[in-house]
Amino acid sequence: MHTRTARNVVLGAGAMGAATAYHLARRGEPVLLVEQFALGHDRGSSHGAARITRHSYADPRYARLMLDAFRAWRVLEADAGVNLYLRTGGVSFCPPSVDYVGRVAASLKAIDVPHRRMSGRELRQVWPEFGGADDTDAVFEPDAGMLAASRAVAVQVALARSLGGDRTQVVENCPVRQLDLSGERPTLVTDDGPIVAERLIITAGAWVTRLLPTLPCALEPTRQRVLYFRPEGGAAAAYEPGRFPVFIYKGPEPLDDFYGMPAFLGCGVKVARHGGPAVDPDIEDRTVDDEYRGIVRGFVQKFLPGLSQAPTDRTETCLYTVARDEHFRVGCLPGRRDIIVASPCSGHGFKFSCLIGQILADIATKGETALEISLWQL
Ligand SMILES: Cc1cc2nc3c(=O)[nH]c(=O)nc-3n(C[C@H](O)[C@H](O)[C@H](O)COP(=O)(O)OP(=O)(O)OC[C@H]3O[C@@H](n4cnc5c(N)ncnc54)[C@H](O)[C@@H]3O)c2cc1C
Repeated sequence: MHTRTARNVVLGAGAMGAATAYHLARRGEPVLLVEQFALGHDRGSSHGAARITRHSYADPRYARLMLDAFRAWRVLEADAGVNLYLRTGGVSFCPPSVDYVGRVAASLKAIDVPHRRMSGRELRQVWPEFGGADDTDAVFEPDAGMLAASRAVAVQVALARSLGGDRTQVVENCPVRQLDLSGERPTLVTDDGPIVAERLIITAGAWVTRLLPTLPCALEPTRQRVLYFRPEGGAAAAYEPGRFPVFIYKGPEPLDDFYGMPAFLGCGVKVARHGGPAVDPDIEDRTVDDEYRGIVRGFVQKFLPGLSQAPTDRTETCLYTVARDEHFRVGCLPGRRDIIVASPCSGHGFKFSCLIGQILADIATKGETALEISLWQL
């Protein structure tokens, strides 16, 4: 047991923690990154082949911040010398009774991002793989695409190490059992001894309320299940990146939202429902039950009929951390400028992660960020 002290401690090495460590190291700041599992694990929210990225948000504030996020990913790609973003185009669609696509199109217009509004009939003319009614409301955004998820996390940890040299320390398989905030400096209680931080940045994903039970906002861990469809024979090519877009469907009812992406990195076509049951993040449950499979197949039969007979040869489970209003939460703990908390999830945080890392490094080193993030206050 020994006491460690560190200037910047980042708790959690998922998408947000890895990005924060990278941005701190990039500024010459010493950083200690602490992770309870092995790096690259699949127990949290950031693992898997890919995540959707898009400017296509009904809330214009998110659409505008995505301009900065796209820039942040380009800087990361340049620093790493690798591509993490694959431009596939993206379709957002909904029934005409749902007030969604109209707002998405207005957001894209407001930030001058190219897009094309389409009816269901036009959508099928361009992509015969889609089904649905002629009067479906749709908007296509050419710049939408996929981000290589697990790879982006690994690349940012590697950059934090290479840019930081011995100023960067990464401790994995080191669960923080508790946070002691009673003293002058925040202290992380671990089995190997306390870690005393000058600044503590908490990016603990679904475990954040466990570490901070008095956090002034309700955040609920939920379990997500993903199916991968394997189109057979000649049909497969039609679902490849460049031929098939990422998509987001917003239905009339809660839990009637679905999303998906082209076949990628050997995985089939990803289709999943947005939302799932509340869970204890410590309980590992990888089952994908028949009821859920039936729900996703029901969506596929209606909107991706070409896949309705396709086998699902792969499933994945993952955690969301959900705020009731689906807004992110980023900022200093009330009364503690030395403790910064980030819970940017609700199932749509990955595309912002590189920018969130930049913002958290700003707040840690300058006490504030120039970006307009008041909608994310704790
Ligand atoms: C199925 C699925 C699909 C998604 N699709 C998209 C998408 O298409 N586009 C998009 O933008 N977003 C998407 N998201 C959301 C996005 O992936 C998440 O918002 C993002 O990955 C959250 O990252 P995080 O770093 O906050 O969480 P995590 O990756 O879970 O990181 C938190 C880390 O903290 C560690 N930790 C927690 N407690 C402790 C402790 N006590 N001690 C030490 N370490 C600890 C955990 O082990 C974990 O590694 C999706 C999420 C899921 C689950």
